[in-house]
Amino acid sequence: MSELINLSLTDQIHGLADKSFSSREIADAYLDEIKKKKSLNCYISVFEEESKENALLADENIAQNKVRPLEGIPIAHKDIFCIKDKKTTCGSKMLSSFISPYSSEVFTKLDNAGAITIGKTNMDEFAMGSSNETSFYGNVLNPINEKLSPGGSSGGSAAAVRANLCSFATATDTGGSIRQPASFCGVTGIKPTYGRVSRWGMIAFASSLDQAGIIAKNAKDAAVALKYMSGFDQKDSTSLNEEVKDFQKEVDADQEHVIGIPKELIENMKNDQVRDSFKNAISILEKDGAKIEEINLPHIEYSLPAYYVIAPAECSANLARYDGIRFGHRSESVSSLEDLYVNSRTEGFGREVKNRIFIGTFCLSTGYYDAFYNKALKIRNLIKRDFDEAFKKVTSIAMPTCSNSSFELGSISDPVEMYEQDIYTIPANLAGLPALSIPSGKVNEMPIGLQLIGNYLDEGKILNLANKFQKLTDFHEFK
Ligand code: GLN
Repeated sequence: MSELINLSLTDQIHGLADKSFSSREIADAYLDEIKKKKSLNCYISVFEEESKENALLADENIAQNKVRPLEGIPIAHKDIFCIKDKKTTCGSKMLSSFISPYSSEVFTKLDNAGAITIGKTNMDEFAMGSSNETSFYGNVLNPINEKLSPGGSSGGSAAAVRANLCSFATATDTGGSIRQPASFCGVTGIKPTYGRVSRWGMIAFASSLDQAGIIAKNAKDAAVALKYMSGFDQKDSTSLNEEVKDFQKEVDADQEHVIGIPKELIENMKNDQVRDSFKNAISILEKDGAKIEEINLPHIEYSLPAYYVIAPAECSANLARYDGIRFGHRSESVSSLEDLYVNSRTEGFGREVKNRIFIGTFCLSTGYYDAFYNKALKIRNLIKRDFDEAFKKVTSIAMPTCSNSSFELGSISDPVEMYEQDIYTIPANLAGLPALSIPSGKVNEMPIGLQLIGNYLDEGKILNLANKFQKLTDFHEFK
């Protein structure tokens, strides 16, 4: 039955509908594969018995023609999404014994659509990292080459999709955590418009940037999954009360594309192989009829410093709630209230999280607020305006997802070098725009991603372009 796990989501949906196989057979096949590939460390929790039972219930529904859109499809959730009565760790010792009293809207929506949650995926601690090495649960291995990083922070989700350990996986992206691991693992990842998917029950890192999305085998699968995950939620005050377009229809529609290329950024790239691979991908789309326009994003070079002020600032405020009293790890060795706070946080958080809290607290402190935080917000506005200007003449913007393909685990020790992983992904988060990554070639025998950024609320357009590319190429196929 191992061929069932190789199928795309769309093929699994069709096969279940015409009863070529059952949900229980797909679930069993994934559960077997998860056991075989345990050393990849993709999952923090696996719900073996429960997913088998839920698969049987799905099969009963299918037999009675009570079929919901994702009925009986085994999926994985990044361990940042709360699920009632389940452990939700966010990759941290701080939450290693936290059992959520409620479910995230992302889980509820996909659960209501009939999907079966097979487990929760490994991730960088509190989603801070680009290599999955900050996880309290140990790093994930890249299924294509186990010496290499799967990327981060959603490395567990990307590797699980690539290793055929779930049909698709949810993930989150604050500065690139869906797209960079998708690029490293040769899968498709989409971060929708900020506010498109509810953040209710998704553990906060940097609230004005955090957005949930999907990692899947291809753009068509991602479109289907995203459709059932999106929508207004009054429990999230930043949720957009906007119609969710039918991404499933849009991904396959006949559409015209004008692709903007930030020429300066491409010419300034240090890695020739990444630049050549990018140019090759664009020429494929151009030959297919897409129009190519040069664009200017003059402030984009300030994205990285602006992000690394705004994200830590928000993180320092969000993570203040882990005080050893209301949530998470509580130190045993205390003799005063102050000790309880200090020791619980010292023991519960890992090094990278502590670094971010320090930086963020500094940037928000009296005397530095204007110099750092307010300045970063101004830069954020300028970057947003650059995009608004560009979208007056183009329907999407293309650039590489990352300036390199995957690197060896343990090879980057300088935090700034690690932060540079996000150089091309951060701008879309700062501007709140939808963006995706699709495999578009290889560099050093590892996949490399093409990033497509869409206009506000126009996920359909980039999914459509991605699907066009995947019809013309086979970079997305697992070989
Ligand atoms: N790598 C980035 C960081 O560490 C992005 C993380 C994310 O998108 N969650 O902040």
